[in-house]
Amino acid sequence: MQQLFRLLPSVDVVLADLAAEAGLAALPRALVRDAVNDFLDGLRADIKAGRITDPAQLAPPLVGAQCARFVAAATRPHFRRVINATGVVVHTNLGRSLLAEPAIDAAAKACARYSNLEFDLATGERGSRYSHVVDILRRLTGAEAALVVNNNAAAVLITLETLAKGREVVVSRGQLVEIGGSFRIPEVMAKSGAVLREVGATNRTHPRDYENAITENTALLLKVHTSNYRIVGFTKEVSLAELVAIGRERGLPVMEDLGSGNLTDFAGLGLPGEPTVQRAVADGADIVTFSGDKVLGGPQAGIIVGKAAAIEAIRKNPLNRALRIDKMTLAALEATLRLYLDPEAARREIPTLAMMTAAPEALAKKARRLATILKKSLAGRYAVQTVPGASRVGGGAFPEHDLPTTLVSLTPLGEAPTPDMLRQRLLATDPPLVGRIEDGAFVLDPRTLLDDELKLVGTVLSRALA
Ligand SMILES: *Cc1c(COP(=O)(O)O)cnc(C)c1O
Repeated sequence: MQQLFRLLPSVDVVLADLAAEAGLAALPRALVRDAVNDFLDGLRADIKAGRITDPAQLAPPLVGAQCARFVAAATRPHFRRVINATGVVVHTNLGRSLLAEPAIDAAAKACARYSNLEFDLATGERGSRYSHVVDILRRLTGAEAALVVNNNAAAVLITLETLAKGREVVVSRGQLVEIGGSFRIPEVMAKSGAVLREVGATNRTHPRDYENAITENTALLLKVHTSNYRIVGFTKEVSLAELVAIGRERGLPVMEDLGSGNLTDFAGLGLPGEPTVQRAVADGADIVTFSGDKVLGGPQAGIIVGKAAAIEAIRKNPLNRALRIDKMTLAALEATLRLYLDPEAARREIPTLAMMTAAPEALAKKARRLATILKKSLAGRYAVQTVPGASRVGGGAFPEHDLPTTLVSLTPLGEAPTPDMLRQRLLATDPPLVGRIEDGAFVLDPRTLLDDELKLVGTVLSRALA
């Protein structure tokens, strides 16, 4: 063991060797030195634990190459691009929606140049950051007024805090949703200071349940879109229009948290009809909240539209300053919303919409192209097949709804790594690739692969197997 320890190079020798490595030379020296120390600590631990027993395992060319890889991995930026081959379009863990080109340009300009963020060019005086999206949101949704905050969780929180703090909010038991992560209606309600008044049963809620729950302490009637689950069977939900009728009669505002909030009516596009924002506004909701980066296909944002008085009260809430939207987001949001002025352009240019509505034949063709590339890069180590399968919209939209797709499936032949091992290795490639395992095969769904990523998938797979 002592002899093995003596074979380890010194930090300075390793640093001198690494200086020749392209890509590492430009990195801050302290960062590289720390990574080299970590690498050498790893070798010492391997010797102690008996994982390294043979001097050949410490041959300088071998150790040098391992060290270069280790240092490259340890010093690269933590936030990285990933290839999404899961077929889940609005994948919250992988960044939800990709932005359309005009939105990317707008965000880039917003951070590279000064702007009229809060500057009124007509008067030369201070302006409002919300002014950039208010008119277009009113036009697209039919609402009287609009406001945007950091995300939809913030939109729900500030609305409840403004309209119902210290008073009761009536919600159906069937709608007390939890969204992945930490958003739960009862908990957000508690944080806002509003008091949850649950009504009805999990599967059935009737108009009379809301009516009977209303007291002089009631502030708001809330409907929450059950965005990531379905209650099926013997069910009854009170429609927004019915809820608005009750609210009008009793002089109470009505809010709908739409979650994903689409501006597109997908009914004609082979997807089940999800409620649109326009519909909720037309049905008379005082407040409608939804996300910017789910099915809308824009940047992370919480959009609040509705009646002018309610929106104005929310805008003036001091919490709004804490939840306020950033300029890059605003720029990207306006550019995304502008695409919706021409619904055809929106469907073509907004990646989320294009992926969701991709034609099955187009996906089958893309799968065949990908399979041809992968057959070359996998060189007979896996059986490569195209098989019918299903994608999901994700992001709490169209729950339990399968989108028909064609998958490329990889089944190991001979000694090739198992699907689980392959999945693990693909997470360590650059860029990492995330796929799925189905029926004992590693599968890739072309729905969420961009056209210019197909070749890269081949390259990444060869690297993972090298
Ligand atoms: C996703 C979702 C939220 C939270 O939206 P974020 O934009 O993720 O903050 C709130 N309510 C519902 C019903 C949702 O689906």
